[in-house]
Amino acid sequence: MTKLQSFMGFTYAQYATQYLKIDEDEQGLFCQVPGMGGDWFKVRVDESGVCPVATHCRCAGFKHHEHCQHTEIVDAFYARIYKTNIEKADAAHIEAAMDAADAQEEAAEMVAIAEQIVARPQIEAPKIVKLNCQQSRQVSFFEGLPSRRKVA
Ligand SMILES: [Zn+2]
Repeated sequence: MTKLQSFMGFTYAQYATQYLKIDEDEQGLFCQVPGMGGDWFKVRVDESGVCPVATHCRCAGFKHHEHCQHTEIVDAFYARIYKTNIEKADAAHIEAAMDAADAQEEAAEMVAIAEQIVARPQIEAPKIVKLNCQQSRQVSFFEGLPSRRKVA
């Protein structure tokens, strides 16, 4: 590894990230992190959040400190490749809030339109006015007057 490090200019973290293996079993997602001596460390990953996070490593370091260079490598790896997801998640959160506000505004608009429809005076159907008996008699009386008589 030291040879590789000096030759390639790689740090252990860079090397381990480069050769990191991602796999899955019945317990969920895990990463195989290459150790410095050709051994592999199985790092458990919790992917329930926006960005996966390392939760366990089988190495002694993790046993003592509850974190180790392997979990750090995995965390750094996911933080990098999920960077846009994290940003998108933030953006999506804002967008969702904006959508909710829009929907609310739209609903308010619909209510306003509905209220206008109700408030708008109904166009009255043309009234069919029937003359009652007295009115029709009056009409014929006036029609019978000499002044109204049509010239033959
Ligand atoms: Zn470890």
